[in-house]
Amino acid sequence: MATLSSVSPIDLHALRLDDARALLGHAGKPGAPEAGEAAVEYLQRVIDELCELSLKDPLTGLGNRRQFRAALERAIEIVARSGDSVLLLLLDIDHFKQINDAHGHLVGDQVLQAVARALAESIRPMDTVARYGGEEFAMILPNCLPACGHAVAERIRHRIEALSVQVAPHTALRVTASIGGAYAPQWVRSTVDLWVERADQQLYRAKADGRNLVFLDQPQESAVSAEEKGLLFSPIAVTEAQPSAENSAGSPA
Ligand code: GH3
Ligand code: MG
Ligand code: MG
Repeated sequence: MATLSSVSPIDLHALRLDDARALLGHAGKPGAPEAGEAAVEYLQRVIDELCELSLKDPLTGLGNRRQFRAALERAIEIVARSGDSVLLLLLDIDHFKQINDAHGHLVGDQVLQAVARALAESIRPMDTVARYGGEEFAMILPNCLPACGHAVAERIRHRIEALSVQVAPHTALRVTASIGGAYAPQWVRSTVDLWVERADQQLYRAKADGRNLVFLDQPQESAVSAEEKGLLFSPIAVTEAQPSAENSAGSPA
């Protein structure tokens, strides 16, 4: 049975309700205030561990789709407030089914893990990489100017192409990946689905054009004018008096 004082990560799979009940019962005994504190700390660790589990992909250790969507929501807020250039990349391994068919599912898993590692190593600390689906990965790259987006995505594509995955003593496998990307429209509060859809369309183009390619959606010039941007982020001024001819001289008609 686990003890309250243990500080190692909690193995949730080994946790039984009876154990937890016994630990909490012990904490409730009179004359043991420290046991109460330890029980709170223990419960917090259980909660932290559950949160961690719910956001991680167990095969690769990357964030899962849920974590990715939460990160995308946060990026949308940042873009709406700051106009930052944030690039979303969707990456899909080419002909991955053939790897499973030829070498088995476990080898397929090894390839997925190697691709995940390579992706995690190719991004900056401020970036996010997640496993979006079976053999699909997603990256969110804040502060990535449109002029650099293609080069960044190409570097990632090349990194995967150069990867050699040793799956047996005399067998190394190589894979390629197709990448589709889209920038969040600046100053506008987009939606996760719209943004992903635009990147997905580019991924589809990369597949249709022969795979092992990068296609990026060009950043859309927002329909919001400079004046509207100012209004969006400054308090609304209530003007009671009509502007005088003097201070309205430069105003547009
Ligand atoms: P394309 O170039 O068009 O993307 O072809 P593809 O073969 O990569 O795509 P397809 O969607 O036909 O096949 C994806 C395969 O990924 C099928 C599925 O069995 C496999 N897959 C999904 N999740 C896992 C996983 O966790 N482990 C392994 N080994 N295979 C997986
Ligand atoms: Mg796929
Ligand atoms: Mg694929």
